[in-house]
This record gives sequence, C-alpha cells and structure tokens, in this order.
Amino acid sequence: MLSRTMETALSRQVNRELFSAYLYLAMSSYFSSVHLRGFARWMRLQAREEQTHAMRIYDYLAAQNGKVTFSDIETPQGMWTSPGKVFEHTCAHEKKVTGMIHDLVALATAEKDPATAEMLRWFVKEQVEEEEHAGEILNQIRLIGDDPGSLVFLDTQLGKRQ
Ligand code: MG
Repeated sequence: MLSRTMETALSRQVNRELFSAYLYLAMSSYFSSVHLRGFARWMRLQAREEQTHAMRIYDYLAAQNGKVTFSDIETPQGMWTSPGKVFEHTCAHEKKVTGMIHDLVALATAEKDPATAEMLRWFVKEQVEEEEHAGEILNQIRLIGDDPGSLVFLDTQLGKRQ
C-alpha cells in the first residue's frame, strides 16, 4: 500500500526521468548539428533508456494501485559549445538524479514501505553505472584535448552502442 506522500514523490520521479530523456535528446540533437553522429547515437539511446526508467516507476505505481500525477516537463537548457561541456553537464545531471533516488529510498524507509524500497534498489545500482559511464566518456574527452583525429575515433566507438 502506497502512502500519498510516496505516491506523489514517485510521480515526480516519473516526470524527472522523462526530463532526463528530454535533456539527452537535446544533447543528441546538439551532436547531430556538429556532425558527431556516434555521440548523437549514444545520447539518443540514453534518452530511450531514460524513458524506460520513467515507465518502470509508472508501472510500479499502476501495480500498487497508485495514481500518476502529470505535470509539465522542464525545458532542457542546451547551450553546449563542445562535447566536453555536454558530458560535464551529463555527469552533473546524473549525480543530481542519484541524489533524488537516494532521497526516495530514505522516504520509503520513513514511510515504512519496504516494497518501494525494494523497487528502488534497481535504480540505486543503475545510478552507479550511469555515473561511471558518463564519467568514463568525460575522462576520454579530456584526454583527447584538441586532437580532432582522436575525437573522430571516440565518435566511432560511441556510435557502436547498441
Ligand atoms: Mg534515469
């Protein structure tokens, strides 16, 4: 049984995951505009993954007879000037999302809701991976510096994401 507080907080997280999808789609669009097709593909797949995160919580709410509250999705503020800036933003964003997930876990504990805490365990693990992957790419971009050849190589690598 979901408490009203938990239901509202999970609904908000559905919205936030959809915002992540929207943000990564904006980043994908930026990469397309600068002809980095591999980066664009990576971000597009990332956006799709965020949609599945939203639906995972949405389905959980439905299974628990919860009601999803819909609200506006924030507009991504995309004024990126380089792949490095995009991935700095991605890393900062994923850290923020990790904080949100941890807050939800703390709320589930406070609400004496072990079922929700259990559902959230998947997200706790997922965030470790999200931060790791985004951080790895940021490090590679920093190593590349001003070498266009290496950037093209990384673009090819990222384009292989399935
Ligand atoms: Mg997510």
